[in-house]
Amino acid sequence: MPKALRTTPPAAEQRDTDLAGQRITYTLKRSSKRRSIGLRIDDKGLTVSMPLRASEQWLDKVLQDKAAWVVNKLQGWEDRRPQPVLLHEGAQLDYLGELLTLRITYGRFVAPAQRRGNELCVFLPLIGTDKQLERDVTQWYKDQALRLFKQRVSHYAVVMNLLPPEIRLSTAKTQWGCCTARGSIRLNLQLIKLPTRLIDYVVVHELAHLQEMNHSSRFWAVVHAACPDYLQLRAELKSVAL
Ligand SMILES: [Zn+2]
Repeated sequence: MPKALRTTPPAAEQRDTDLAGQRITYTLKRSSKRRSIGLRIDDKGLTVSMPLRASEQWLDKVLQDKAAWVVNKLQGWEDRRPQPVLLHEGAQLDYLGELLTLRITYGRFVAPAQRRGNELCVFLPLIGTDKQLERDVTQWYKDQALRLFKQRVSHYAVVMNLLPPEIRLSTAKTQWGCCTARGSIRLNLQLIKLPTRLIDYVVVHELAHLQEMNHSSRFWAVVHAACPDYLQLRAELKSVAL
């Protein structure tokens, strides 16, 4: 038996169209409940909802009528989206509040990434992939972070008259640091990209929690004793998006 020729259109599909001179990809949704064509723009991009059997001409007319609005609104979302750092030859990498230039060497000499002055040099095999590049750069950040964080924690533990706790790196999305009930400290790997003064503030903050497991005035007095500029540093850290 031949299949029915008239198929139901898919409930959702990805489409491309030209609007105000730009190629736009959008999600088209069809619903039997809709009577009109609606456009929505958010962090996922443009979504168009339309009645199940609405014609392509109608859809096209609505899109063309709203073209300028769509392109403007999409640009607004694009500007607000944090841009991931793309790793490539010459890329600028944050490190302790400064920028290092990424230098990639492909060859038979493979070695861990090394800093040379204001450059970070990565040595990949001839057929090195982007994944290997990312792995090498991340490993370099982790090595620097662990070494520096341990040193800062030891320093402030002496200043604050505490035993140096165990420290671990975290990749938390929202916290620069935390202190566990068992008395160890986690510091966010991303801190290694910030100036040392901000790393020190987070270290002092977490060490102070070993004495005061709260944010009481006693806690802030402990922070203040080890880090007199803490108010200014706390404000500065708040202005940095994690
Ligand atoms: Zn705290």
